[in-house]
Amino acid sequence: PLVLGIETSCDETGVALVRGHDLLVDAVASSVDEHARFGGIIPEIASRAHLEAMVPTIERALATADVSLGEVDAIAVTAGPGLVGPLTVGASAAKALAIALDKPLYGVNHVIGHAVVDELVDGPFPERVMALVVSGGHSSLLLLDDTVDVTELGSTLDDAAGEAFDKVGRLLGLPYPGGPHIDRLAREGDPHAIRFPRGLTAPKDQARHAADFSFSGLKTAVARWVEARQDAGEEIPLPDVAASFAEAVADVLTAKTIAACRAHGVETLVVGGGFSANSQLRDMAAKRCAEAGIELRIPPIRYCTDNGAMIAALGSAVVRRGLPPSSLDLPVDSSMPLTQVLV
Ligand code: ATP
Ligand code: FE
Ligand code: MG
Repeated sequence: PLVLGIETSCDETGVALVRGHDLLVDAVASSVDEHARFGGIIPEIASRAHLEAMVPTIERALATADVSLGEVDAIAVTAGPGLVGPLTVGASAAKALAIALDKPLYGVNHVIGHAVVDELVDGPFPERVMALVVSGGHSSLLLLDDTVDVTELGSTLDDAAGEAFDKVGRLLGLPYPGGPHIDRLAREGDPHAIRFPRGLTAPKDQARHAADFSFSGLKTAVARWVEARQDAGEEIPLPDVAASFAEAVADVLTAKTIAACRAHGVETLVVGGGFSANSQLRDMAAKRCAEAGIELRIPPIRYCTDNGAMIAALGSAVVRRGLPPSSLDLPVDSSMPLTQVLV
C-alpha cells in the first residue's frame, strides 16, 4: 500500500510517500530560521508556518513522485508527542485528506518514527531492535519487538541530549541551535582536556537508573567551569570545552545503550532523532558497537532530523501489521507515551 506521511510536531513541515519499505519522496519545509532570533521555538510562529507550508509541501511531494492523490491508500500523521498547535495543523490536514479520499487514517508516534525511518534506508528491522532516540526533546532507550511493539527501558530525567547541547551553546555564546556549532568546535578540541561528570553512572544510580540519562548536572558543571575561568580573567578554550562536553554526552549515551543491548541480548542498535547527527556520538557508537559485536544502524542526517519519511515509514509498518486505523476525531497528544505507537 502507498502511505502518505505528514509530520508537523515541531518546526518542520514534512510530507513523504512510502510503499512498503521504499521511499518515493520526502519533502520538507522548515521554519527554523524564523525562530533563531528568539533562541527557541515559538509555537505560534511554528503553527502559522505549518499552515502556510502544508498544501504547497503536499503538492510538491505528489508532483515530485508523479503520484496523484487518488493513488494514496492510507494517511499517516504525527499524533504526538510535540507542540499542540503544530500537531493540530498536521492532524487537520490529514483528517481532511482521509475524509476526502475515503482512506484510513493513522495517528502515529513521532519518537518511534525517528527509529523506524531507518527501515527505509537499511532495510526491514530484525525481530528485536534496541533504539536510542536522541533529539532536542527526547533521549530515550526503546526496545522494539516486531518494529511496533515498544518497551521503554529508560529516558532522560531532565534535559534531552540536544537540549543540553543547545543550553551549553547558549552559555558559550554560540548561535541557536547550539548543537551543530558545538559539534564543529569539538572537532578542533581535546575531548580529554576537562573531565566533566557522567550523569547516573555511579553504582547507586546504575541500580535504579541503568537505562536512564541525566544531562542537567553536566550542563551546570560546564557553566561552573566557564564561570570560574571568566572570574579569573582567563580565556575560555572553547574547542576543549566543547570537545570535553561532547565526549561526556557521547560516553554516557553509548555506554548505557550498549549495556542495555547486552542485558536484553539484542544485537542490533538503531540510533535516530536530530541529535544523532552529532559526530562525537556517531564516532563513539561506531567504535563501541564494533567492539561489542553489535550491528549499528544510523540513518543519514536528513532522516535524523524531523521529516515526513519517518511518519510514512511508521504508518507503513502499522498498515503492514493490520493494526486498526485511528478514529477520524484523531486526538493529538502532546505527551503521547513512547510505548504507544498509534492513537
Ligand atoms: P523532538 O524530535 O524530540 O520533538 P526536536 O524536533 O527539537 O525534538 P530534532 O529536530 O530531531 O529535535 O533535533 C534537533 C536537536 O538536535 C537540536 O537540539 C540540535 O541542536 C541538535 N543537533 C542537531 N545537529 C547536531 C549536531 N551535529 N551535534 C549536536 N546536536 C545537534
Ligand atoms: Fe523529532
Ligand atoms: Mg526540529
